[in-house]
Amino acid sequence: MNHINKIEHLGIAVKDIDAANTLYEKLLGVPPYKQEAVESEAVITSFFKVGESKIELLASTDEEGPIGKFIAKKGEGIHHIAFYVDDIEKELDRLEKEGFRLINKTPKQGADNKLVAFVHPKSTNGVLVELCQDMN
Ligand code: ZN
Repeated sequence: MNHINKIEHLGIAVKDIDAANTLYEKLLGVPPYKQEAVESEAVITSFFKVGESKIELLASTDEEGPIGKFIAKKGEGIHHIAFYVDDIEKELDRLEKEGFRLINKTPKQGADNKLVAFVHPKSTNGVLVELCQDMN
């Protein structure tokens, strides 16, 4: 039984969303299909389709927000890997029982019409993991 189906997207922290959109459009040969602010996370996101997966660019609207802090500490670069799951609550339960440290014990509304929850990088070899599921 598959718990985690595919890499839904890679999240990349960028300083300037417009400059990054131009660059990734050049790199991937397609424009972003969506740009969206997520106020609870103090970010502007934009999404590119890459085959079955996506690239999510994240720029901070607030230096004290999670992406602002990430860039201050580590600079621009890969911020998280998002896995697609069919049942996010069940997966969170399973991962917690397996000993992973959850940042969100209950899913919240994320960008791109998704329910999302994050797993702490301290429990996943330094990689911030996002689980996501389509909202009904
Ligand atoms: Zn994401």
